Order: sequence, then C-alpha cells, then structure tokens
Amino acid sequence: MRSSKPIHSRRHPKLRPAALLSVYRTLRRAFGHQRWWPGETPFEMMVGAILTQNTAWTNVEKAIRNLKEAKMLSLREIHRVSRRSLARRIRPAGYFNVKADRLKHLADFLVREYYGDIGRMERDTTAVLRGKLLGVKGVGPETADSILLYALNKRSFVIDAYTKRIFSRHDLAAQDLDYAAWQAIFEKALPHRTGLYNDFHAQIVRLGKDHCRKSPRCGACPLDRFSENVKKSKILCK
Ligand code: SF4
Repeated sequence: MRSSKPIHSRRHPKLRPAALLSVYRTLRRAFGHQRWWPGETPFEMMVGAILTQNTAWTNVEKAIRNLKEAKMLSLREIHRVSRRSLARRIRPAGYFNVKADRLKHLADFLVREYYGDIGRMERDTTAVLRGKLLGVKGVGPETADSILLYALNKRSFVIDAYTKRIFSRHDLAAQDLDYAAWQAIFEKALPHRTGLYNDFHAQIVRLGKDHCRKSPRCGACPLDRFSENVKKSKILCK
C-alpha cells in the first residue's frame, strides 16, 4: 500500500519551532546576509511590496525603472497622476490596472492618514499600523507585513508561499494553515529582533528560489545539510 505521507517529510526530519533560529543561522552561513529590501527609500519599498504581488522581482525591477525614468516614483506623483498613466509605466509587473489602483489607494491612504509624512507614520505602533494597512484596498497580510518590516523597520514576520512550501515540506506545519497561524509559529519561536525577521524572510525567499522550487533541489540545499547536522539534536521532533 502506498504511504499517504508527502515525499519530503519522508526524506527530511520534522522541524520543531525551536529549530527555527538554527535554520536561520544555517541559511545565513550558506547565503550570507541578504541586505533586503531592495529599494532606495521607504516609499519605493512600499511600491515594490505592491508591485511584487503575483510576479517575479525581475518584473518589478523593470516597472520601478520605468517609474524612475518618468520621475513618477514619489508619493506626490503617484498620488497626482492618473491611474491610466501609472498603469502604463508599471505594465512589466503584470496586473497593471489592478496594481495601479492599489498604488493609488496606498498613496491616498498615506496622504489622508499621515499627510504624506512617512516619519509620522513610523510613530504609530506596529499593531495600529498593521490594522490601518490591512484596511487599504489591495493590501493583504503579506503586503502589509512587508511594508511594516522593510519600509518601516517594524517587527512583523512576513509569511509567503516559499515559507509555507519549505517548512511544510519539513512538517513544521500544514501548508494550508492560515497566515496568522504561520506567523504566530515564527514570532513565538524567534527572538524578537527586527533585523532577524528582516534577514530570515529574505533567506527563505533565496532558499525558495534557488532550491525549494516546486520540484525541490534537495541535493545542494543548505537545509539538506542542516538536517544531517542536527539529526541527533533535541530540536527535531521524534
Ligand atoms: S529543497 Fe531544501 S528546503 Fe526544500 S525540501 Fe529539499 S532540503 Fe528541504
């Protein structure tokens, strides 16, 4: 009879939350610090967080370049220009009409709530800010947390599809667990350090892109070695 267990849980030991810091250290040793988020200003990072929804970062880079060339990459300009004009510039990022709307909603929010002053925004608590961001049309938990963590340096762990794929393959939790539950696992297990949250998520994205793809390349993956190294330690489940 065939086992119903997913193939990766048979190959790789189950991780407990207590192992997460060791996972981070292993990835950091393998990949080095990722120096995220790519972007020159907090507002550019916010724009990137919207543009990267459902697309690869290389497409976002093209859209950002277009915005820069058109001198449109500022809150003032995005708030001012027409949705149509904005959509034309961000076309490479895909779903350009929807994303133009979302950028306009974000710009409206920043102007309405904070008079366009990011410094004023930073003075809100993480919980208050998160609640407000989630109220902006087109901003879901992943986008809100990316803005909080990378643009505003607030401590909020970002969960994305790579996180769920990688850690469900190691049986940390079921892939279909909801966003809040996944986030709680990481936030409970990790030291409460913004820099750690920042680079850990970046490492996860790197791991997902380089190794833990839909068809995983476990052979050269740092977590494959990690599994071997910690087989006897107490941080693995029995
Ligand atoms: S590619 Fe790496 S992270 Fe993904 S299942 Fe294999 S060992 Fe684990």
